[in-house]
Amino acid sequence: MLAMPTVSSDEVRAVKQPPTNAANDLYVSNREPLQPSAFIKLPIGSIVPRGWLRKQLELETQGMSGRLAEISGWLKFEDSAWASPQGAGKNGWEELPYWLKGYGDLGYVLGDETVIKAARKWIDAVLSSQEADGWFGPRANKTGLKGKPDLWPHMVMLNVLQSFYEYSGDERVVPFMLKYHKWLNTLPPEDFGEGYWPKIRFGDNVETVYWLYNRTGEKWLLELAPKIHTHMAKWHTGVIDWHNVNLTQGFREPGVFYIQAKDEKLLEQAEKNYRTVMDLYGQFPGGGFVGDENCRSGYTDPRGALETCGWVEFMHSFEMLTKISGNPLWADRCEEIAFNSFPASLTPDLKGLHYLTSANLVQCDKNNKAPGVQNGGTMFSYSPGAVYRCCQHNVSHGWPYYAEELWLATPDKGLCASLYAASEVSAKAGDGTAVKIVEETDYPFNEEISFKVSTPKPVRFPLYLRVPRWCQKPALKVNAQEVALNAAPLSYAVVEREWKDGDRLVLTLPMALSLRTWAKNKNSVSVDYGPLTFALRIGEKWQRYGGSEKWPELELYPTTPWNYGLVLDEKEPAKSFSLSRKAGPLAAQPFTPETAPLELQAKARKIPGWQQDGTGLVGKLKSSPVKSDEPVETVTLVPMGCARLRIASFPLIGTGADAQEWGVGLRASASHCFGNDTVEALNDGQVPASSGDRTIPRMTWWEHKGTAEWVQYDFPAPRDVASCEVYWFDDTGHGGCRVPQSWKVLYKSGNEWKPVEDASEYGTKLDAFNRVTFKAVKTSAVRLEVQLKPDVSGGILEWRAGEK
Ligand SMILES: [Zn+2]
Repeated sequence: MLAMPTVSSDEVRAVKQPPTNAANDLYVSNREPLQPSAFIKLPIGSIVPRGWLRKQLELETQGMSGRLAEISGWLKFEDSAWASPQGAGKNGWEELPYWLKGYGDLGYVLGDETVIKAARKWIDAVLSSQEADGWFGPRANKTGLKGKPDLWPHMVMLNVLQSFYEYSGDERVVPFMLKYHKWLNTLPPEDFGEGYWPKIRFGDNVETVYWLYNRTGEKWLLELAPKIHTHMAKWHTGVIDWHNVNLTQGFREPGVFYIQAKDEKLLEQAEKNYRTVMDLYGQFPGGGFVGDENCRSGYTDPRGALETCGWVEFMHSFEMLTKISGNPLWADRCEEIAFNSFPASLTPDLKGLHYLTSANLVQCDKNNKAPGVQNGGTMFSYSPGAVYRCCQHNVSHGWPYYAEELWLATPDKGLCASLYAASEVSAKAGDGTAVKIVEETDYPFNEEISFKVSTPKPVRFPLYLRVPRWCQKPALKVNAQEVALNAAPLSYAVVEREWKDGDRLVLTLPMALSLRTWAKNKNSVSVDYGPLTFALRIGEKWQRYGGSEKWPELELYPTTPWNYGLVLDEKEPAKSFSLSRKAGPLAAQPFTPETAPLELQAKARKIPGWQQDGTGLVGKLKSSPVKSDEPVETVTLVPMGCARLRIASFPLIGTGADAQEWGVGLRASASHCFGNDTVEALNDGQVPASSGDRTIPRMTWWEHKGTAEWVQYDFPAPRDVASCEVYWFDDTGHGGCRVPQSWKVLYKSGNEWKPVEDASEYGTKLDAFNRVTFKAVKTSAVRLEVQLKPDVSGGILEWRAGEK
């Protein structure tokens, strides 16, 4: 046997990011005077996904996205304005481009000719729709915003064309896109600030402008991009909109414009925008935030959720920022969502999705959960149907885009394993030699990743391997020889050498159990293992409520208890768990509770007071540590992505003096509550800054005016009550709520409501709690009876019922 060549230490190094003073002319990179590309996307088709990722894509093909034309009215070719723009076509807005954006790429990454052909029919129709001035697609959009053009659906269609070109090299695409952008460049600059969706999301088009510039060198494109940036919504000044999908797309815009402006502050602003949102609304595991339509002040508990459009757009943004910045943190963030949250947004067969996915979610029924989540109607049940219109179409790009970003080209003509998954990459490297690298791994369910290089001749190039933030001591073997590697978390290990056919690399990214404490979410804790977060395994009962046999709409109910707090080893918390790995090969679809490749056994106690609220949402967390007298049990945790019913942010059980009673929740109700407000605000513990505080949840009787109304607390067991404190809501100057004309306290005696006796003054002071004391009563419920002032409504920010 021949001895393998030894690896010298100067062949291995670690870098924070790739060099920016090199230029890769093997692939289309940023062209001068743009900021040099930190990483370069490989042409679609270069990367062939394998393993579990390929399975997701195959399920997608056979599931909802792949066969959406059977279900969605927006995808009927015969009457779509995208297919016949001049005719009586309809459905010319975002739905078709949303779907086609992922569907086409699904075909390209799998090499699935049926899918490619079906996508091509739409793309051909779009490419033949261009008018003399450059406009294309649905005519109605040209004057869709009070006579001005609605440019948002076009931004998505441009992405469709970019992918199609990267895959096919079709000669029609670039001239077509140039002609459209020429027309765009004739618009009055103010038009880029028109319309809610377009002005917020125009950063998407800025990215397309650079894509086109890099392929044509047309200088006028570099006038167009700043014009858009200047007149669109100003994400470079901070978070300027709180709609979840706008946020997940829009936050990155300064980072995109940085490509041209080359001002580091812009890149930093994308990071700042991300942190602002996550700091306020993303204090739980899974990589998302509470944006269950919009972020709302006071709604930060992990039972809140992110829209499926939000998950896929966030992933896409992170993929883009990885390439722009070279910062491996963005790839980490992308993996966090891909492994922990995105899989749970879909059914295991990918034939249905839900609108919202939360970190703590114990029931996915079809009933209204508002105002606990912002929208009324079903949000958590799984459906392939129009009830989740935008996500139904937009979800298609989640996995295909991910697969396209596994490998990237580097400025120094190397290759980078950026997102780890089993795959094969065929690409040019070094002197331009076409090499192939086969990556074999069960990552993220396994810490070992092996690479085998095939090359027609020896070729020198750098191979970059991302070191994730959670990995302290990566280990590397080259041709079975251990290599000294000094690569810190959030760096790249680079092996630069003359690669020979058959060379092998084995990268080990040791995973360890660790805990995160969410100080801003009641000190709840989550359990991580490498890039995975674990969640309680909850028994599942799937139940069809609608749809068809072929395309069912499903509810998902828990069959086992979920209200556990974790019991941790105080000295070494990570020792509280034992990890086991399922024997045998990884399941084709590992993202289910039954096929979860890893399990954790943990100690826990039930918290009897932690229950679902009246709408079925999991009760909000209370401050940990929490007392529990229930017996210690052994519970099973599985990776969060495998658990559609899940508790991933756990209360922590404590025994010390600092442990608090969870208490049994009292139930708040009202004679009427405005749809956007909530009776839960009454006792959410949030002390208002003033009576006009509109930043915290409130209860209002809006839009009842001048009426007699009430609010009520039902106690789980009779208790002594001798006082009430009420903080009235009054939005003088903004709205129609004022302090009431009068009020009084009643209590329940048997089945009757009786006024309390010896009451002190019933105050209506602004900006303070109004305290009333009375003769103590033992009761199961108290009520405030309120007479509103004539012609105005009223509301309450906080109400306390006390013993003294
Ligand atoms: Zn959506």
